[in-house]
Amino acid sequence: MTDLGKRAGRRLRELREARGIQQTDLIEPLGVSQSFLSRIENEKAPASYALVERAAEYFGVSPAYFYSDEVEPVVVGRKTIHTDASGRATSCPECGDNRYDEQARYCLMCGHPLYNFCIGEERHVNKPEARYCGTCGRRTFWSLTAEERESLEVPDDVRSSRKTEAPVGKR
Ligand SMILES: [Zn+2]
Ligand SMILES: [Zn+2]
Repeated sequence: MTDLGKRAGRRLRELREARGIQQTDLIEPLGVSQSFLSRIENEKAPASYALVERAAEYFGVSPAYFYSDEVEPVVVGRKTIHTDASGRATSCPECGDNRYDEQARYCLMCGHPLYNFCIGEERHVNKPEARYCGTCGRRTFWSLTAEERESLEVPDDVRSSRKTEAPVGKR
């Protein structure tokens, strides 16, 4: 139970940071002091189930989320995108294809970025839920609607529906 409690603390920190929330914002909803929250997040003290339940309610996820290593799916526009720990979509956000290899950065079927790249030439990889690039401030590809994609200056190699990498395996 202790290990699970500590994992829950780590997951709590990841989720809090992903949502851009400060520790101090959680003191009241979770009913803990900041120093104790800090100990939990740093896996120095296990999170109790009661605390996990409050955190689950606050973040709108199930308590099981804190005990698993799954990555919370992000909702971008009308899409729900599931990603792995690196932030890569586990299936193409555009066409749903999931037969790509470990190195793929774009969907082999439709050319959609599998990471939430910014639309700048540098192609910074951003957190899945980011709307603006944390490095250069440009919009992120996943946050664009189809209309925005058409009207914004999006480089061809991050524009959807183009094949930008040769398929690795033949179907
Ligand atoms: Zn695709
Ligand atoms: Zn950028």
